[in-house]
Amino acid sequence: MLFTYRYISHDIEKLQEYLDFLFYEVWLNANGEFDAEKLNGNPELRQIYIDFGNSEGKWAMFFNSSIEKIYSEFAKVDEDFKAELRTLYEANNDVESLCCDKSRIPVTYDEIKARYPDLEKELRAFYSKLCGTESPFNLEAFGQLNKKMIPSHYEAFMTENEDGVCPFCGISKIDGNNVSTREAYDHYLPKSIYPFNPVNFKNLAPMCDKCNSRNKGTKDPIIFQNIRQLSFYPYAQTHPEIDIRLDLKSKNIKHLKFEDIDLVISSEGHDEEIESWKRVFGIENRYKALCCDKNEGIEWFNTVIDGFENAKELCGITDFDRWVDMKLRDAGRNKLSNFGFLKEPFLRECMSKGLFSPYSEGAP
Ligand SMILES: [Zn+2]
Repeated sequence: MLFTYRYISHDIEKLQEYLDFLFYEVWLNANGEFDAEKLNGNPELRQIYIDFGNSEGKWAMFFNSSIEKIYSEFAKVDEDFKAELRTLYEANNDVESLCCDKSRIPVTYDEIKARYPDLEKELRAFYSKLCGTESPFNLEAFGQLNKKMIPSHYEAFMTENEDGVCPFCGISKIDGNNVSTREAYDHYLPKSIYPFNPVNFKNLAPMCDKCNSRNKGTKDPIIFQNIRQLSFYPYAQTHPEIDIRLDLKSKNIKHLKFEDIDLVISSEGHDEEIESWKRVFGIENRYKALCCDKNEGIEWFNTVIDGFENAKELCGITDFDRWVDMKLRDAGRNKLSNFGFLKEPFLRECMSKGLFSPYSEGAP
């Protein structure tokens, strides 16, 4: 990714705290039948459970019955696997470590299914519902996730993160607080693969639709073809510099095609993170498409040429090489504005391949 988000603390984290309590204090200690007493360690959640018990509402009944069914399945789990699950639950919720430390091992639904299929079934039924339109967290007792908590979190988030550009691609704008719409939150570790973290906001990040729905989908940033892979963490406090270089194999800039461009994206010491990023978000093809676009790459080139003609006529500027140098500096001045992160290396490559030479003073 081009840059990282700043994580914000928010009331919405309370939902993850409820889930942590259920996992560590209730389910891992499952023994015998479930009753409200088992929730004594969290009086607030215990009261919600009791109130839901008097409700006919579908979501309330789903919440209570899920807690009970998962409890009953955990009561059948052997102590060794419970201890393993404790560590794995911690791992699935420590998204930063999973991204930057390959010795940290997450757990997938499939791995739980291989040991305790009924437990996996109940966990998946519960966790897969928690952040959708059918989530029990949408109830007033939990603060109405979709109606109130998400909009409130989004507003606070965009106040802290006001670049207005999707950090995962740098191409698309993302909705900030000046518009009434908002981007969807992506589950960075896909919720269809990994249990235990669907409302952990360290695993959730607003993302442009092209990145989220059209490229990432359910692709896993940390495992590829069964091999653990390092990945950029969306909330990392420091992010390495990304270096983008192009090699244009054609001088026919007006009709540039995909195959005319070699793109080298690198970051010293972060090869795997770069590979994961390119793979998950289809970065190479999207950047090449931008360079071949007649209103982007080709226009970036034309603007340098046309701009010089205007500058010559209006300001008497005659040194073309200095003009190009100035335009290169302009392009790279703000990497998040007008695709500067790509425009600058693109124009630099045009210059190094001599594509501006025919327009230089004295050239034929
Ligand atoms: Zn994006």
